[in-house]
Amino acid sequence: EVISVQELANRMTERSVDVIKSLMKLGIMATASQTIDADTAELVVEELGHTAKRIAESDVEIGLGGEDEDVTENLVPRAPVVAVMGHVDHGKTSLLDALRKSDVVAGEAGGITQHIGAYQVTLANGSEITFLDTPGHEAFTAMRMRGAQVTDIVILVVAADDSVMPQTIEAIKHAKAAEVPIIVAINKCDKPAADPNKVRQELLQHEIFVEDMGGDVLDVEVSATKGTGLDKLQEAIMLQAELLELKANPDRSAQGTVVEAKLETGRGMVATVLVSRGTLRVGDHFVMGTAMGKVRALLDYRGQQVKEAGPSVPVEVLGIQGAPVAGDDFAVTESEGKAKEIAEYRQRLDKTKKVTATARGTIEQMFSAIKEGSVDELPVVIKADVQGSAEAISNSLEKLGTDEVAVKILYSGVGGITESDIALATASRAIIIAFNTRANKQARDEAAQEGIDIQYYSVIYNVIDDMKALLSGMLAPTL
Ligand code: GDP
Repeated sequence: EVISVQELANRMTERSVDVIKSLMKLGIMATASQTIDADTAELVVEELGHTAKRIAESDVEIGLGGEDEDVTENLVPRAPVVAVMGHVDHGKTSLLDALRKSDVVAGEAGGITQHIGAYQVTLANGSEITFLDTPGHEAFTAMRMRGAQVTDIVILVVAADDSVMPQTIEAIKHAKAAEVPIIVAINKCDKPAADPNKVRQELLQHEIFVEDMGGDVLDVEVSATKGTGLDKLQEAIMLQAELLELKANPDRSAQGTVVEAKLETGRGMVATVLVSRGTLRVGDHFVMGTAMGKVRALLDYRGQQVKEAGPSVPVEVLGIQGAPVAGDDFAVTESEGKAKEIAEYRQRLDKTKKVTATARGTIEQMFSAIKEGSVDELPVVIKADVQGSAEAISNSLEKLGTDEVAVKILYSGVGGITESDIALATASRAIIIAFNTRANKQARDEAAQEGIDIQYYSVIYNVIDDMKALLSGMLAPTL
């Protein structure tokens, strides 16, 4: 028994129902989650017009197939990975700069701070924090859209002399959709016009309940330019990290995520990676998205060469053949041959994916997933012409959930459908419900490209009816 029906379907970018059908032709009754042997799999592959090629065991090892779990004894604490988000001009960049300066070892170690996409700060007590230094939710969403979840904690920066603004709300939506805990940094508290309580109050409307308001979201008053409150902010991060019990096994071959990649004259393709488990070393062979290579050098954010990088430590990797992008996964392989085999396999898969991705919408994917019981949540984004309708729809849909599948409202709001709604939906493979509202051209193009379904309605009853059908696995053919 080597491969599940679902996995086989994924690899061929075929629908699992088609794989099930061709199995039936062979006289085999199987569900998507059942596994079949290599010979049967090969027959199905040929049947569906693909060429079968058995990929080495390393394919499984790097997560294309099953995941090998690290046993608890090997796990040691790792630094939290923190992203800074918030409205433009509220001080994200200033805060990242100020935090960088608070690193107690930067001075001793020398070197000039390089922008590599992430940096680490060592606190006076020796604890470490990793910051992603591309502020804003675009980078965060771009990574999530590729299935990568590297951020452990989001710092939401809100200027105390301003209010909760559109991008503040965007950031909240994205953090909530990703289920990443938020710490609120109320910035610019040095300004005479600062009113931190007003910020706390306004956040209530967006379901961010800070401690003073009886909630459990940590909030800290800071001034990025004066450098005040940074120690408190770091304490809050460490406290949140403790609650999350972040751990990884450093004693294994490295796996992780690309946070930034660029082609540089003289250095070639350079990628900044964050190791999620294991330890990356100079000389390691690796696969990185559809790229591959051998680690020629590793550089930290001070531009210093290092020999290895463990969990949560950002490093630049040199020695890449191909073009990885932010959000790609990487994994060390035992040999160059294996890395090449997997990279080439992924390149072929990538090509077929590009052709078929647009053809399949979220509804169809959701429908098959619900039918086979492989999902327990139906994520939706609701946009309506008026607040009353948005609320009515989201309240009704929340009640619709069955024992097997719950409706998860990622966002419910008023207005036309924009690219940011599509990005949110794409990151969570959500369905968009448009009630008496339309999508702009860019949003429609994005949706088509990402294979996101936008369902238009003008009668609330119809929304509920359709979603009910979808949830019960009895999808109306017209939907
Ligand atoms: P970003 O767009 O969120 O990255 O914001 P920036 O970090 O670029 O800051 C926007 C402006 O606000 C700049 O002029 C900063 O100097 C100023 N600023 C940022 N933090 C503070 C602060 O704590 N106090 C004051 N008075 N100004 C700040």
